[in-house]
Amino acid sequence: MSNRQKSILTADADALRRADDVVGRLGLPNEGIEVTDPGTAEVIAHVPDVGRDGITSMMASADRAGASWARTTPRERSNILHRWWELLVEHSEDLALLITREMGKTLAEAKGEVKYGSDFVRWYAEEAVRAGGNFQEAPDGGSRIVTRRSPVGLSVLITPWNFPLAMATRKIAPALAAGCSVVIKPATATPLTTYFAVQLAREAGVPADLVHVITTSSSRTMSETALRDPHARKVSFTGSTEVGRTLLGLASERVLRTSMELGGNAPLLVFDDADLDRAVDGVFAAKMRNGGQSCIAANRIYVQDGIADDFVAAFRQKIASVRMGHGLSEGAHLGPLVSPRAVTDMEAIVAGAISEGAELLEGGNAPEGDGSFFSATLLDHVRPDSAISGSEIFGPIAAIQRFTTEEEAIQRANDTEFGLAGYVFTESLDRAFRVSDAIQCGLVGINQGVPSNAAAPFGGVKQSGLGREGGSEGLEEYQNIRFYNIAAR
Ligand code: NAD
Repeated sequence: MSNRQKSILTADADALRRADDVVGRLGLPNEGIEVTDPGTAEVIAHVPDVGRDGITSMMASADRAGASWARTTPRERSNILHRWWELLVEHSEDLALLITREMGKTLAEAKGEVKYGSDFVRWYAEEAVRAGGNFQEAPDGGSRIVTRRSPVGLSVLITPWNFPLAMATRKIAPALAAGCSVVIKPATATPLTTYFAVQLAREAGVPADLVHVITTSSSRTMSETALRDPHARKVSFTGSTEVGRTLLGLASERVLRTSMELGGNAPLLVFDDADLDRAVDGVFAAKMRNGGQSCIAANRIYVQDGIADDFVAAFRQKIASVRMGHGLSEGAHLGPLVSPRAVTDMEAIVAGAISEGAELLEGGNAPEGDGSFFSATLLDHVRPDSAISGSEIFGPIAAIQRFTTEEEAIQRANDTEFGLAGYVFTESLDRAFRVSDAIQCGLVGINQGVPSNAAAPFGGVKQSGLGREGGSEGLEEYQNIRFYNIAAR
């Protein structure tokens, strides 16, 4: 067992200065809610604390702007979204620096997020002009049915901190493409990227009042005010299942349209017939990307007996080679977690798993010093009924369980109330489809650990959510359908 404290790479001074230049250009106030760098614990900015009255006036103003936006042509909306995408690409480096500074992930990962996040804007620029309706002959021949799509109206968007750009663009872009106005509340920990992205949207031609950013010290006041506001027509939320439940309750009062991207507890299955190298790389990406702070992170890693020892040995080497450091340091693979609280949570999860019979092979500790760091951790022989299997880890802890038969693996994979992502590693095509069909979830990575794509309908089943984001399905979340029944004779 290795329990050594690993040293932390410090941030590159030039990269820090460039990140702070970007923060400086946002034109934020000198007081308000503090935004901290989780890698150094220093305060890097303040954002406005918008109260009830401010929220109400933003809702009214977005609703007014939405009336004209809904009358624009699909081509006009598409052109503006295209321009926004171009600006996001042009400012990729600055966006990545900002994401790393406020959220912690490494600069390389932040650049990946900028690519992924801006892809949603490009995708919906293209989808905006394809949002057609339908024509149908009634079965009795007596009439013709024409369906038409129209914007849902003012949409309240609430995003988490783990992908500050992508979670915002995945909502704003389809809403604007459909002809809706929005207010968006980013997570209090990571509001800067949203401010920057919205500034670029305005520069691209999005009317200033069409999109308002709400930062607040009271999320509850925000949701109660915005969701009860008479102008609200829709709420789209990404975050924990617990908060999603509260928002669904509020949304029911005015029967709002809802999209809920909630928590996960993804099972990942490695079969004896998997390609070992591909499985090691894929599992590493599925688990450690974003420091394990992803809703689709592989939470329960099931490895079949015949390959388990070889897999664990190779995977252990990979985990042992992970270098921790500030996201803006040269050579860091793993940045800080989002907050000191997250570190305490990881310590408790590891201690709990060990007390329930797991074996600690790598990491398992928080190094001394500033910043919310926790080492890449490998636990083997995790018990199926232990607490770590039942809830979202949301950190860099890989928890391995062994299994014997396919049926047993499927049964254990589905033994959860969550159903967002699943993963299957096998070289058998039959097995890949058979097992993917049997896992209760909204998306499956087959022989790969990063399944998300702007063109794909991302979302969960069971308590992982309602609705889809991305793909053509993501646009429908912001559209009402009506039909005209035209007499044929
Ligand atoms: P969270 O639920 O604590 O917070 C998400 C957002 O909701 C934040 O902006 C937060 O300020 C806000 N919020 C909290 N309480 C609120 C309230 N009463 N009213 C209005 N807003 C409120 O989640 P988090 O810790 O930021 O993110 C982690 C969770 O998000 C994990 O469970 C993860 O699985 C989930 N997540 C899901 C997806 C997905 O697509 N399914 C993607 C990313 C994260």
